[in-house]
Amino acid sequence: MYDVNAIRADFPILSRTVNDKPLVYLDNGASAQKPQVVIDAITTAYSHEYANVHRGLHTLSNIATEKYEGVRAIIARFLGVANEDQIILNSGTTEGINMVAYSWAMPRMQAGDEIVLSVMEHHANIVPWHFLRERQGVALKWVDVDATGALETQKVIDAITPKTKLIAITQVSNVLGTKVDIKAICDAARAQGVPVLVDGSQGAVHMPVNVDELGCDFYAITGHKLYGPSGSGAIYVHKDRLAEMRPFMGGGDMIREVSKEEVTYNDPPMKFEAGTPGIVQTIGFGVALEYMMGIGMQAIAAHEDDLCAYARSRLSGLNWLNVQGSTANKAAIFSFTMEGAAHAHDISTILDKKGVAVRAGHHCAGPLMDHLGVRATCRASFGMYNTRDEVDVLIDALELAHDLFA
Ligand code: PLP
Repeated sequence: MYDVNAIRADFPILSRTVNDKPLVYLDNGASAQKPQVVIDAITTAYSHEYANVHRGLHTLSNIATEKYEGVRAIIARFLGVANEDQIILNSGTTEGINMVAYSWAMPRMQAGDEIVLSVMEHHANIVPWHFLRERQGVALKWVDVDATGALETQKVIDAITPKTKLIAITQVSNVLGTKVDIKAICDAARAQGVPVLVDGSQGAVHMPVNVDELGCDFYAITGHKLYGPSGSGAIYVHKDRLAEMRPFMGGGDMIREVSKEEVTYNDPPMKFEAGTPGIVQTIGFGVALEYMMGIGMQAIAAHEDDLCAYARSRLSGLNWLNVQGSTANKAAIFSFTMEGAAHAHDISTILDKKGVAVRAGHHCAGPLMDHLGVRATCRASFGMYNTRDEVDVLIDALELAHDLFA
């Protein structure tokens, strides 16, 4: 455990007020706030060290290139990956998963092939696979969560058939917080020769990740949920899959030579990084990951587990609140609706009056909303800087909303 107040002091935005109340920021699942070191790194990069990367031979370009390229090694360390050339830098999870769909899956899947997905995937890990269904006749096989919101590992394994070409699955649900046993799924999938793509957008935020130990083939992360800038991210790719991938986007940087007649490609990872990247965003992302590792992922997980248990016990005391998913194996993400009340948007508006920021809507998880039989929920998602006191403020604000709507 750590001194949460010392951590809070690193995030300037946390000391502001909203509607004359201290900000209680519980929308971390959508995007996390940024520590001063990240903000400073962005300012320094633009104020003193900015130029385009890779192609320049002048001092500023060399500095920018060195800083930008240095982030690959930081991400590799963060994910427990030995070879940084297996880290492809991008703008976030959405780009990472689309790259896998276009570069790896499309050329090798045909009508009748199957992709296994859980029902609690984010649209970023659904829509690219619908492209394959629409365009190539690939079948999507959905694995439901149980009544507690847990995903039974065996059900995922049972969904594998000789036609399964990929399992695409989240490590943590952005709606329920449910944790998935990725290692067990990867072990079973590997035994049957089925690659596994892990959406680590939420997972990597809340727990230590070691991709080599998990044994997955793709692991996607997104910078803005990891306390870094938006427009930054990365995907780890297993070396065998990397060798199988054709480039998705064409342009500068990803080529070796281009003539009127032909093109030859750069080696991975550059082969998959066409065009001018998010230079400063990526530099900021590296600083954010260093910041998280400096605190320690175990310490962050322990703090959030404590918050999760506290929030769970306080929320369960509100018998007019329907909290979705009761599984104990979850990260500190809570989705709920209010009996007899108000649309989730109305609840979130009342909470905002009390300075409490939560998200309301379908959370880009249409199949899960259908499964739960709700159109929208409110979601309170916690980060490394949240406190038990903030849980109490949330509860008071919910009671106010209930009084208004009941
Ligand atoms: N996957 C999950 C589980 C998410 O929660 C999100 C963002 O909410 C995404 C994917 C998409 O991330 P991005 O929009 O940063 O690409």
